[in-house]
Amino acid sequence: MSISSVSSAPPFEPPKDLPAGAPISPIFEIRHTPNAGRAVFARQAIPENTLIWQSSDLTLSVLLREYRREVCGQCFGYEYGRDLDIRDKSVGFAFCTKMCQDKWRQEHGEIGIEAWTAVEKLVKGRGKEDNDMVDTDLPRPKVKDITSAWESVAAQAALIRVARQGESATKQHRKAVSKALQAPISPDVMSFCVSGLLWQHANPTEWVKVLALADDRTPYHSIDDLTAFTRTYLHLLAILPLALLPIVTAKSLFVLSSRDSHNSFGIRSLEDEGSEFFGYGCWPAASYFNHACSPNVEKKRVARTWEFRAAKDIEPGKELCITYLSGQERKLSRGKRNLTLKKNWGFECGCATCESLL
Ligand SMILES: [Zn+2]
Ligand SMILES: [Zn+2]
Repeated sequence: MSISSVSSAPPFEPPKDLPAGAPISPIFEIRHTPNAGRAVFARQAIPENTLIWQSSDLTLSVLLREYRREVCGQCFGYEYGRDLDIRDKSVGFAFCTKMCQDKWRQEHGEIGIEAWTAVEKLVKGRGKEDNDMVDTDLPRPKVKDITSAWESVAAQAALIRVARQGESATKQHRKAVSKALQAPISPDVMSFCVSGLLWQHANPTEWVKVLALADDRTPYHSIDDLTAFTRTYLHLLAILPLALLPIVTAKSLFVLSSRDSHNSFGIRSLEDEGSEFFGYGCWPAASYFNHACSPNVEKKRVARTWEFRAAKDIEPGKELCITYLSGQERKLSRGKRNLTLKKNWGFECGCATCESLL
């Protein structure tokens, strides 16, 4: 069933005052709610299996390094753990077909390829030394910890910028670069930052869509996680193409973390209830759907696009909800589901299913 086949729709007036990047459709609308921020509501009866929305607005994405040989860098295709045929070693990605590789190179352009090549050279040169996995039970850094961590690297960042510009660089400036390059690296944090910065560089007018997302002022899981970001900032200042340096700022990197924190979607295998977690990405329009434990909308990833379909017949005025839980997590008890939601998304679930179990 297609969107246009839904009948008896009320006259559609495109809404005003919507956040940049929010989804617009004749069959649903975005409204503010007292408790759950912005939410999506049916404007009309929506029959089961109706395609409600497709999001192909991927901004940044992270493919964890451990999956880089098995998951296509372009379409996220996966063949049960088999190494993909095409490996682009200079940029550190593998592709399922030549077409995907060509598309990736075309979308990234010269500057993107140069940036990923620089990252790959640094990461490869260092071998495996830092573990990106963080213990999420540690206390999260507070706003003041975050501010002071970013302030603590500002002076070194300024020296590196001068060193990269060349002309007036002295020994002190060059020392700041070599000190940065000797610090431990966090490859997945680096991928997150590079992916976000490249997207920002290629889509300057679309940045407002990221800014419009609900933000998390304390997005770092632990002090180690925060330190990984501030160190990565210095690494990137030292290695990225000069043309990117104006947007490589503490502010840009913090915005990426604060908007990604509660808005990213896991990129998982399409089989086995998504048991393999390859990484994650941010699709702004897709992030307006709230969570429910028995959702009336099912989401499904098709390559780089998310499809949202009615999981049942939906009455006009009902909120459209997806689940933020993976296939396995959905089977947990209410208490365990809530712990997972609290830890990963920062809220207590008040959906009808959870309320009925109280
Ligand atoms: Zn592919
Ligand atoms: Zn719930």
